[in-house]
Amino acid sequence: MINIDLHCHSNVSDGVLSPTDVVARAAVNGVHVLALTDHDDVAGLAAACVAAGAAGLTLIPGVEISVTWSGQTVHIVGLRIDPAHPELAAGLQGIRLGRIERAQYMSADLARSGITGAYEGANAYAANKEMVGRTHFARWLVAQGHAPDMRSAFRRFLTRGNPGYVEHEWTTLENAVRWIRASGGLAVIAHPGRYAFKAHELHRLLDAFRTLGGEGIEVITGSHHPSEYGKFADLARAFGLKASRGADFHAPGEGIDIGRLPALPHYCQPVWQDWPELEPYFSLSPG
Ligand code: AMP
Ligand code: MN
Ligand code: MN
Ligand code: MN
Repeated sequence: MINIDLHCHSNVSDGVLSPTDVVARAAVNGVHVLALTDHDDVAGLAAACVAAGAAGLTLIPGVEISVTWSGQTVHIVGLRIDPAHPELAAGLQGIRLGRIERAQYMSADLARSGITGAYEGANAYAANKEMVGRTHFARWLVAQGHAPDMRSAFRRFLTRGNPGYVEHEWTTLENAVRWIRASGGLAVIAHPGRYAFKAHELHRLLDAFRTLGGEGIEVITGSHHPSEYGKFADLARAFGLKASRGADFHAPGEGIDIGRLPALPHYCQPVWQDWPELEPYFSLSPG
């Protein structure tokens, strides 16, 4: 079976492994086709591509763009993007600048609850100083003993209603889909099961996304409970979206490992359906 994983993170965003080590881990785990999809940055793709050549796996250039839609954060994965495309690069740069200011507000909010030094603390966990996010804060909070693990760090802090959470306006759905498509890529809604939308709002999101030229939705992801796979496979079909599969790997021991996911349900139309990158693997059965 061909093992395709189209969502993972390196230390260019909030993963802990370098792009080279992410690719090496994917190879060890038997992945044939891997997309590196760091949050709001493409700086890891060049090194990942070199490592993929050495490891004999196929790298798909990707990104995961932070979007605000209907008052909530939604993540849009771009696959087969051109990381050098000026409109995409400029758009991502703008999001990263917003992250630095947001991190300062998050730190100030934690300080109001008696937790000081969080900005510097989180930054020490961010290999890429432009891409500081909640995961870096969470790692620092755990290391400082404010939470026993990442899960509790996000339950006690950094989430709506808790210390360290600040509202933030990311880019628009329109922009994210436009930048991805302008660079030659395909836009995919990441982990739809993670959003707190009511059914009709989720349907409205899928409609809007489709109208803007979005093409895919994650069905099999580390963020979905196996009991949710069928629901999102059905939604993909109902809204004319192709299905994607990706672990959303961030760190060894945190969540599902790269490539360690079940296959897409047989009735899904995979996002990789017509990709020329898949041709070398046609002798393997699809997964
Ligand atoms: P940010 O883009 O800075 O808001 O950070 C979002 C990231 O935080 C996600 O991509 C996940 O990696 C991580 N995250 C969000 N919620 C949780 C959670 N409940 N447990 C662990 N990680 C989480
Ligand atoms: Mn993340
Ligand atoms: Mn995400
Ligand atoms: Mn992700």
